[in-house]
Amino acid sequence: MSPIVDTLTLTAEDAIALVERDEISAAELHAAYLEAIGEHDEELHCYLRTVDEANGAGIPIALKDVISTRGVETTAGSRILSGYVPVFDATVAARCKVAGLTLLGKTNTDEFAMGSSTENSAYGPSRNPWNPDLVPGGSGGGTAAAVSAGLAPWGLGSDTGGSIKQPSALCGNVGLRPTYGTVSRYGVVAFASSLDQVGPVAKTVRDVALLYRIIAGRDAADSTTVELPEPVELPSDERLDGLRIGVPRQAVALESIEPGVRAAFEATLALAEGLGAEVGECDLPLSFDYGLPCYYLIAPAEASSNLARYDGVRYGVRGEGDTYRDMVERTRDAGFGDEPKRRIMLGTYALSAGYYDAYYGQAQRVRTLIVREHASAFEHFDVLATPTSPTVAFPIGDRAADPLAMYACDLLTIPSCLAGLPGLNVPCGFSDELPVGLQLIGPQFSENGLFRAGYAVERALGLDLVPARLQS
Ligand code: GLN
Repeated sequence: MSPIVDTLTLTAEDAIALVERDEISAAELHAAYLEAIGEHDEELHCYLRTVDEANGAGIPIALKDVISTRGVETTAGSRILSGYVPVFDATVAARCKVAGLTLLGKTNTDEFAMGSSTENSAYGPSRNPWNPDLVPGGSGGGTAAAVSAGLAPWGLGSDTGGSIKQPSALCGNVGLRPTYGTVSRYGVVAFASSLDQVGPVAKTVRDVALLYRIIAGRDAADSTTVELPEPVELPSDERLDGLRIGVPRQAVALESIEPGVRAAFEATLALAEGLGAEVGECDLPLSFDYGLPCYYLIAPAEASSNLARYDGVRYGVRGEGDTYRDMVERTRDAGFGDEPKRRIMLGTYALSAGYYDAYYGQAQRVRTLIVREHASAFEHFDVLATPTSPTVAFPIGDRAADPLAMYACDLLTIPSCLAGLPGLNVPCGFSDELPVGLQLIGPQFSENGLFRAGYAVERALGLDLVPARLQS
């Protein structure tokens, strides 16, 4: 622990205030985090590499290793990209620099962000600061673990089907998956382009809103981005008067939701009612019955196309071979781990001429129905609420050999991702002394509303989210 600041409890907002009042220099702040990393990262393995770049005027940030950083190796957790040093910054990294933020390092991720535990990282798993025998979630487990262990004040992750929301839930952070199209994907290693979104992870809702303000908005380099319809507001209202919260029946009916998670979720709904919200039930049958299979056709289909570029010619490592074909085969065989290979095969199959309509085409039609189902729910409700993850953090190794068990981690986070909607994870209690997350879903561009709702819940709960084993 640093003698100057306690990085375990310091919020980004407070860090900014300390620097503005000249009570600490940006360089001292950066050094305090590097010291904390030196103390704990050997055990937790949040970072794939750190950077000693303490010259900025602002506060430090951790970036998931799918975000290109000029001059700093970017591997996406894959062996195939080891040694790849981008010559440009992703737009989100550039925006952080413009805002004066300094890069602490690149955080661990499942290979190409495919996974829910970081165990698919080619560089070994990250560990959960609440209990290092457990996973921190994934794919952005490195960022989430770093924030909850005080190894970064905040960070950026990417979320395709839950990779910001789920690790935030398992580590006890706030995490936002923004509305599709509000944050640039330029320079972000692509997994499934119609789903990938970059978003903030931090200790508080206000920190998440601050960081979202820095990264969001139209970028000429990503034609899927738009200007925000309204400026990002920092929430300050502690009431929820009149807020209509819808609870999808099919989501809470899932048997895989652990009793402790269910109890924390239900207690939070009762608390929200006490703050003035109206809680009702809604129906999204297709979303929760077919969301997961729909995602596991669309995401691998897009991944099989996006990952075709790793041919040993343009990026990273190259295998030996007498012919071009041999070289590409050996590069891809040695460079990709099992999960990307599984998805490339699944996706190629789903897109092949004889099956395209039956699998990919059908999944696209289901996706449209999921979009419509959410739209009709929002005719009656302002936000939808579910637990973020059916379970709390699970032991390293528990699900690694069973892809379907791993995929089921995202049953609750995936449907709204398919619908392009924003989702916020807010810690809402504990089960077995491990954090439980509340998922709040809103209509497109309703981030300000999610921040208001999340803030009121966060304030009313007042949870101590510092992992007990790290408190001295
Ligand atoms: N766990 C999901 C998957 O493996 C989601 C990952 C993500 O959001 N990047 O695809």
